[in-house]
Amino acid sequence: MKPAPFRYADPRSLDEALAVLSAEEGAKVLAGGQSLLPLLSMRLAAPAVLVDINRVPGLDAVEATGDGVRVGALVRHDALLRDAAAARVQPLLARATANVAHPAIRNRGTTVGSIAHADPSGEMTSVLALTDGSVTVATPEGTGTVGWRDLFVGPLETSVTGPAVVTSAFFPALPERSGTAFAEVARRKGDYAVCGAGVVVTLDADRRVSAARAAYVSVGLVPEVHDLTDAVAGAPAEEADWAAAGALARSLVEPDGDIHASADYRRLLVGVLTERTLASAAAEALGKVA
Ligand SMILES: Cc1cc2nc3c(=O)[nH]c(=O)nc-3n(C[C@H](O)[C@H](O)[C@H](O)COP(=O)(O)OP(=O)(O)OC[C@H]3O[C@@H](n4cnc5c(N)ncnc54)[C@H](O)[C@@H]3O)c2cc1C
Repeated sequence: MKPAPFRYADPRSLDEALAVLSAEEGAKVLAGGQSLLPLLSMRLAAPAVLVDINRVPGLDAVEATGDGVRVGALVRHDALLRDAAAARVQPLLARATANVAHPAIRNRGTTVGSIAHADPSGEMTSVLALTDGSVTVATPEGTGTVGWRDLFVGPLETSVTGPAVVTSAFFPALPERSGTAFAEVARRKGDYAVCGAGVVVTLDADRRVSAARAAYVSVGLVPEVHDLTDAVAGAPAEEADWAAAGALARSLVEPDGDIHASADYRRLLVGVLTERTLASAAAEALGKVA
């Protein structure tokens, strides 16, 4: 099918973009177009105006500092995947992005667009949650920060409404002595995950587990972070009962079934992926204990 008719604006500044978004009812931001254009083509969305932000300057930087990684609204998945400084500060970014779609889509789609799109099958919404991240939002009234807990309202729905552009996403750095891992199961490499898991394991100076947290992909309607520390707290990292943490995770999630997988299969995958990723993250964290 072809999209319903729409008008097109390609502003050259953020102010101009916000002015068009304010003036036109039903205007929508266009970033990489990798989610929006299929929706238009299937006529599941019919915005009156597309506001293409690709020529707005200043939105294409990845800034990695000791505090975390800020990803601008026009940073493509592929650019983030290849950013060595970002991977050093927050390894979950590259690990999760490697699982986002196929190279052609990663070349064009943006990480911030993926977050603004709020698809429960998207990897980067879960990473934003797991890292306790936030987004910066520009509106005609000014600029503000929205934490992930207040951002995700439902599938394909965020609290960012009205004339607004998400200008960046911020992913805080890892706590000291922490390791991460990310793994998913998809029917074919590059497809949306049937189930995915990202984890962070933090050790104390005696190599014992002090925290274990996980977030999932394609499990639940909005990203959730599950604290699994109780199952492994205080255990030496080499001997922790990661299967117990997997079992705890299985008891905490409430996946739905669909044409791709039953709810039971997804719950099973949550347990398996949690156990494996926690063990791998703990091994990485061990390498950081003096
Ligand atoms: C075949 C296929 C497979 C895919 N597989 C995966 C996958 O496995 N995992 C995954 O996570 N994604 C997957 N995607 C989606 C892809 O990651 C998209 O890049 C991403 O979801 C949206 O980013 P975008 O820049 O293309 O946004 P767009 O398509 O341009 O926009 C998506 C939505 O977000 C809004 N939006 C975008 N940017 C902003 C902004 N800065 N401020 C405010 N609103 C904004 C738009 O208005 C629109 O509603 C797949 C896509 C395709 C076509």
